[in-house]
Amino acid sequence: MSAQWLEIAGPVRGEVSDLLAEFLAEAGALAVDLADLHAEDGDEQPLYGEPGAATEARWAECRVAALFDQTHSPDALDALWRRAREAWPGAIGAPELRVVVETDWVRATQAQFEPIRIDDRLWVVPTWCTPPDPLALNLRIDPGLAFGTGSHATTGLCLRWLSSLDLHGRTVLDYGTGSGVLALAARALGAARVHGVDIDPLAVDTARANAVLNSLSGEGLTLASAEEAIAGDWDIVVANILAGPLTVLAPLLGVLVKPGGQLALSGILDAQVERIRAAYAPWVALDVAARSDGWVLMTGQRDG
Ligand code: SAH
Repeated sequence: MSAQWLEIAGPVRGEVSDLLAEFLAEAGALAVDLADLHAEDGDEQPLYGEPGAATEARWAECRVAALFDQTHSPDALDALWRRAREAWPGAIGAPELRVVVETDWVRATQAQFEPIRIDDRLWVVPTWCTPPDPLALNLRIDPGLAFGTGSHATTGLCLRWLSSLDLHGRTVLDYGTGSGVLALAARALGAARVHGVDIDPLAVDTARANAVLNSLSGEGLTLASAEEAIAGDWDIVVANILAGPLTVLAPLLGVLVKPGGQLALSGILDAQVERIRAAYAPWVALDVAARSDGWVLMTGQRDG
């Protein structure tokens, strides 16, 4: 059973709110919260303070709420509040009691991430779900704190593009790998060698864990920090970041893809297409290959 607490809360005159908070904390409250009694009712009174600086200011009328564990009964909390009302006559209103149930935020977040069908043969399936199509190529992903569940439009654009290619015998560089979803897909779709990089060490760890989860770790798949030098000559380079970093990265990504090889970029909004096209023009003539939810995928072949 999940943990439960009891919350007792009521209206309190501003000048008494700190004293009541102290009284409740001394009586064993795990937490005491002070808020504007009129928050969100039109009579809200904004108070400004700097982080770290003590403010003397209090709302004229507060709502004070205190959280207690289950060793305190509702009757005991009622009696406690009554004592406070007697100590500060006319300053404290009648209380409300409610049970607060713990929320498992990890589970709540996971519930929003469901298996995603990329195309006829490829699915991205969170580790805690059963693949809806067991015969498909099911990438098992636990994104942790990294980006790349497959649910974002740009990830879908890149995955569909990779899946449309014949990757057998090809080399693929995934620049900004996040959860590793694109690198893993490329390897699972038959690429001979795949390298995924990220500037975020947490992403690299997550991508490695996902590689193990999919039994894809091994010689054909490496995942590393973007700070390590990368040798050039990739058949395919895919980077799903954002227009800003992609513009800065143009002189690098433009030469990491080998002459005749293919570059695919996403994380680009419709309005940013011309800027990206211009940034990459010295190496690759990029065109919009697909669109989804206001995002575009730009692809092109390196000259030569
Ligand atoms: N490839 C995944 C994740 C995309 S999110 C997918 O398609 O869903 C973009 C990732 O790029 C993030 O993990 C971020 O840390 C990384 N990133 C951002 N700027 C970068 C840079 N300059 N070099 C390498 N990685 C970068």
